[in-house]
Amino acid sequence: MTRAFNFSAGPATLPESVLRQAQAEMLEWNGVGASVVEISHRSADFIALAERAEADLRQLLSIPDDYAVLFLAGGATTQQALLPLNFASPGQTVDVVVTGHWGKTAIKQAKPYVNVHIAADGEPGGFRDIPPRAQWQLSPDAAYVHITANETIHGIEFRDTPDVGEVPLFADFSSSIASEPLDVSRYGLIYAGAQKNLGPVGISVVIVRRDLLARAGQPRADIFNYASHAARDSMLNTPPTWNWYLLGLTVKWMLDEGGVAEFARRNAEKARLVYGAIDGSGGYYRNEVAPGVRSRMNIPFFLPDERLDALFVSESKAAGLLALKGHKAVGGIRASLYNAMPVAGAQALVDFMHDFAQRHG
Ligand SMILES: *Cc1c(COP(=O)(O)O)cnc(C)c1O
Repeated sequence: MTRAFNFSAGPATLPESVLRQAQAEMLEWNGVGASVVEISHRSADFIALAERAEADLRQLLSIPDDYAVLFLAGGATTQQALLPLNFASPGQTVDVVVTGHWGKTAIKQAKPYVNVHIAADGEPGGFRDIPPRAQWQLSPDAAYVHITANETIHGIEFRDTPDVGEVPLFADFSSSIASEPLDVSRYGLIYAGAQKNLGPVGISVVIVRRDLLARAGQPRADIFNYASHAARDSMLNTPPTWNWYLLGLTVKWMLDEGGVAEFARRNAEKARLVYGAIDGSGGYYRNEVAPGVRSRMNIPFFLPDERLDALFVSESKAAGLLALKGHKAVGGIRASLYNAMPVAGAQALVDFMHDFAQRHG
């Protein structure tokens, strides 16, 4: 068996030890005589697993007690539709700061329910920078301000939490959660689909200040109500138990590896390697994002001629480096460097980039 270095943007690489444990426990888990995927979510064994995963995530991210943590079926896009339903009254304004593709989907998902105001928009600049905070046009009566902490496709990341005053700040952390220390108390709500940095697709984590759960929001079915999920410990209906289990193993692995401070160190090192190879290539490789907001998690870059893209992707794949094709919205090449990507993977990519530039320069 040869496991390649997998640079997929998501679903993304998982720690090998997590996959091995899941493999070993596939047929029989925890002495219960059945797989974890075959037992009731209301069994004592599964409830203990769920509580452990929450406790570990709280420890990993230093989540304060006045925040609820929800584990929900569905993706980040699902949460983008649920946010206005839960936290904005009909016709109320929500502010969105658009710094890439996922800010635009946040608008699309919210639009049927609320008045969406674009407080700042990086699109006229080609999503190469984050509009300066001083230029944001925030609405004083907004239900919340939405940002995308890391834009997975455009490779742009907030390096500081913006100050938006009294209005709660909501952030899509799908592709950067747990990649570095995070001050949860600066946010009203943080959400993330798990399949980038936390585990498998099919489960999302929502971290929400408890007082916000009392907001009336809009008429909605109970199953779309965050407060109902919180009141039932995310077991209002059958939760995605297998995904929850894998997420729990992944979070535990992060704690065992040294927690978010250690991942911040590794992620900075990986990003330094890859941006170094781009910037040190004499112009052969190009990244167009403003240096101060370059993402550490997703690095899009371009070759001197887009006709070389397919060759770069096929040769890198043959060299054991998977999924480097850029997203179609941007083109070129993209390397995603989530927590489960070792520094050795970034180094192997950099070695390949040097070699490719020499052969096709
Ligand atoms: C992947 C991603 C999404 C979409 O996640 P789904 O689970 O496919 O809905 C949203 N936001 C960001 C920042 C992402 O990286």
